[in-house]
Amino acid sequence: MSHIPEFRNYIAGQWVRSSSGATFENRNPANRNEILGVFQRSTAKDAEQAIRAAGEAFARWRLMPAPRRGEILFRVGELLLKRKEEFAQQMTREMGKVLSETRGDVQEAIDMSFFTAGEGRRLYGHTTPAELPNKFAMSVRMPLGVCSLITPWNFPMAIPSWKLIPALVCGNTVVIKPASDTPQSCFNLVQICEEAGVPAGVVNFITGSGGELGGPLMTHAGVKLVSFTGSTETGRAVSAACAPGFKHCNLEMGGKNVIMVMDDAHLDLAVEGAVWGGFGTAGQRCTAASRVVVHKKVYKEFVEKLAGRTKSLRVGNGLDPHVDMGPVINQAQLETVEKYVEIGKKEGAKLLMGGHRLESGEHAQGFFHEPTLFGDVSPKMRIAQEEIFGPVVSVIPADGLDQAVEVANDVPYGLSASIYTQDVNKAFVAMRDMYTGIFYVNASTIGAEVHLPFGGTKQTGNGHREAGIQALDIFSEWKSIYVDYSGKLQKAQIDHD
Ligand code: NAP
Repeated sequence: MSHIPEFRNYIAGQWVRSSSGATFENRNPANRNEILGVFQRSTAKDAEQAIRAAGEAFARWRLMPAPRRGEILFRVGELLLKRKEEFAQQMTREMGKVLSETRGDVQEAIDMSFFTAGEGRRLYGHTTPAELPNKFAMSVRMPLGVCSLITPWNFPMAIPSWKLIPALVCGNTVVIKPASDTPQSCFNLVQICEEAGVPAGVVNFITGSGGELGGPLMTHAGVKLVSFTGSTETGRAVSAACAPGFKHCNLEMGGKNVIMVMDDAHLDLAVEGAVWGGFGTAGQRCTAASRVVVHKKVYKEFVEKLAGRTKSLRVGNGLDPHVDMGPVINQAQLETVEKYVEIGKKEGAKLLMGGHRLESGEHAQGFFHEPTLFGDVSPKMRIAQEEIFGPVVSVIPADGLDQAVEVANDVPYGLSASIYTQDVNKAFVAMRDMYTGIFYVNASTIGAEVHLPFGGTKQTGNGHREAGIQALDIFSEWKSIYVDYSGKLQKAQIDHD
């Protein structure tokens, strides 16, 4: 075992082992025989230590001028940029998605660092006239304190950065717990924070089971905010755990995203969007286009083209530059995909392409599944309603724009949607009527940029938005300040004449 690296927790500026003395393995989903490292199987005691360290560091970090905090975060971006390729390669090995996508994941963390670093010189509040003479009024942001950050495996560095960087610029300190399937990418981000000069205790990192660590991370009196990204099922549990202590809690959860293709669409472009949205990251993006609603007039032609492109996709190890789609993350996810393929068949959807796991030759040791396409899907089928989180796309015929929008909206989630049309009027109707947090015109459902708000409606979120300047509203609280320099008692609303 000596050649397998052991990664430690980071608490109060020290790289430490868990009090359990136990570790867990990080394996490559493209080759389960490859162990990339062992990580600490942390305990509630470790979590409490991390929360305490973050609480102690908060006293100093909140008083560091925000532009200085921003400078440190800018250095995070610079250091990530230098090691982008190395981190992307490691991410492909731990998560499976192809190298071009893991480069994008690291780039998102870089973008977030550079964009948010600038907020250190803004963090704008308002000054506004007061209603009484010789009185000054303003609003300022203040940090909350210790934030627990709980992140998923599908964007192993980008999502931790979306939480960590805005939390820090606002003056909070954090304890971050990454998904157990992808701890290395978050470890890399935390190590970069240390190298960039983030003071000890400001960022604390613990690995281990969410089920075990969730308790203290969500209920400890020292924690003021829980920021969670993951499944709607776990998000509901996070929300319930935070409620009794009135802890702030922002939830970014599942999706059942949709591309609408109108009869006047540029069909080849729409096909490329559907392939990228449906099978990029093996369908394991929260914004994946798992449904395509197609105008009946072009349905046959679109489906033929989409099936042809789907057939041409090469599935394999994401480090191979000729591969289009990597494995799914683990055995449980592979079984979920298989389960939904069976459900789709039983429901009467037409299996157009794929439908099987790949288990021979280069695929023998990984969690590979064929890109899978169902046609003639009706909107109420489970494969059209439930998040599968794998390479399975359902194509649904529709009579026209009105029906397409109705079908597109008729799911429990509301993250991302898109329309392909050459008609600006149709595009604007869809922009107005789709109840999602993100909308695209003549592009797929994926491709969010860090300076715009990110999040969704319905069971995708609980009203917050990450990224953009909107993320600052998650990680700060408003304080309204009135300064009376009149030298006498003045009464708002009462001294009116
Ligand atoms: P998950 O199973 O809900 O896990 C997410 C995180 O929560 C992991 O760190 C996990 O730890 C932890 N966790 C598990 N049980 C917990 C508990 N009882 N209390 C506290 N934390 C707990 O989700 P996932 O499978 O990693 O990610 C896929 C889901 O994330 C999909 O539904 C996807 O749509 C969603 N997602 C949403 C967005 C968005 O922005 N809306 C972005 C990306 C992904 P362990 O790994 O140790 O179990």
